Amino acid sequence: MTNEELLKLALHCNRCGTCRGVTQDAVPDPAFSTQCPSGMTFFGAYEPGGLMYIARGIATGAFPWDETIANYLFACTLCGYCDDLCSRGYRHTPAIAILEELRRIVPQELKPRGLKKAAQSVRKPAADRLSVLKAYGLADLSDGGTAETLIFCDRFLIANGPKLRELGFLMKKSGKRAGFFGKDPLPPVDAILLNAGCQDVLEKSMKEIDSRLNAHGVKQVICYHPEALSVLRRFSRSGADFIPVTRLYAEMLRKKPAKKLKLPAVTYQDPCHLGRYTQDYQSPRKVIAGLGLKLKEMWRSGNDSLCCGAGGSMLLANPKLARRYAVNRIEEARATGAKVIITACPNCMVNLKQAEPKAMKVVDITSLVAQAYGYKGKAWVI
Ligand code: SF4
Ligand code: SF4
Repeated sequence: MTNEELLKLALHCNRCGTCRGVTQDAVPDPAFSTQCPSGMTFFGAYEPGGLMYIARGIATGAFPWDETIANYLFACTLCGYCDDLCSRGYRHTPAIAILEELRRIVPQELKPRGLKKAAQSVRKPAADRLSVLKAYGLADLSDGGTAETLIFCDRFLIANGPKLRELGFLMKKSGKRAGFFGKDPLPPVDAILLNAGCQDVLEKSMKEIDSRLNAHGVKQVICYHPEALSVLRRFSRSGADFIPVTRLYAEMLRKKPAKKLKLPAVTYQDPCHLGRYTQDYQSPRKVIAGLGLKLKEMWRSGNDSLCCGAGGSMLLANPKLARRYAVNRIEEARATGAKVIITACPNCMVNLKQAEPKAMKVVDITSLVAQAYGYKGKAWVI
């Protein structure tokens, strides 16, 4: 994007303030009326409208990059709420495109060290990590052959044996004849790359992924990690349908009911990349109902949900800030009276857990579904 193009996009914003959140008189508690994690914590330039005006300044050269401006930028979790809310009004400022562009052009030395390091370490995973999936009847497409359905193994899954086994178990239960790339894994398409402004690396990986999906006849790709799902949906040109695991679970529970789980009342954290970026608010809720659980919604839920604070790779860029944001969410979860927070994203899990380890139990929806279908293996514990 050129500076002129950036300016053109940023000029959509007139700082109307709508993206701060829902109207005060509609909320039961004013503490739950704002939806931008950085804006509600620091105000002013940290709010989406402030960031849009900073984008104007950067594009015109009126604001030279410095540490203060980089701090505003990297306090944002790229949750997408401002973009979504702005699009519901009389104008649409494409806030995410603008914020991602700012992260692309910010000078290297102003990027948070943890984020930069993580982005540099994103590389093709080792060949032997995924072979465990074969035990569940999944075919390694690296050996040749075709499969209409593929399970996409993201960076988190590859590093997490217990979760991989739970998924393998559920894939077998679903009866889907799926494949995976084991001996020759697909290159990673991590949201870290976008968050760190490395779009060029992402685009290169995507070309390889697309050509391999097409060469092996893949039509449907099941994604565990919402970040991988949203990145694949946005950037793939393969024509394949990218779906979240929660959609698979919802279908399974409809066709073949599982054991009802006995848990105290639960609440649900919408992961930004599953909800706002992929527009799937329903399948996790269907799964929760299918498991026989009583759901108590937080005030900010569905398309008005509040990011847990881990978006934008905040756990790498600024873990203390991620924790601070998560405390807000825990407060709201507690206010529902629920004892358990269910989520469908490992980043939400880690962040909510680190915010208040004893306050509430935080569980992954995949573990619950596996348990309901009789999985007896070791669960992923944080
Ligand atoms: S991003 Fe949209 S909703 Fe937010 S201040 Fe700008 S114009 Fe208003
Ligand atoms: S993307 Fe989220 S955190 Fe960033 S400015 Fe918009 S609402 Fe705030």
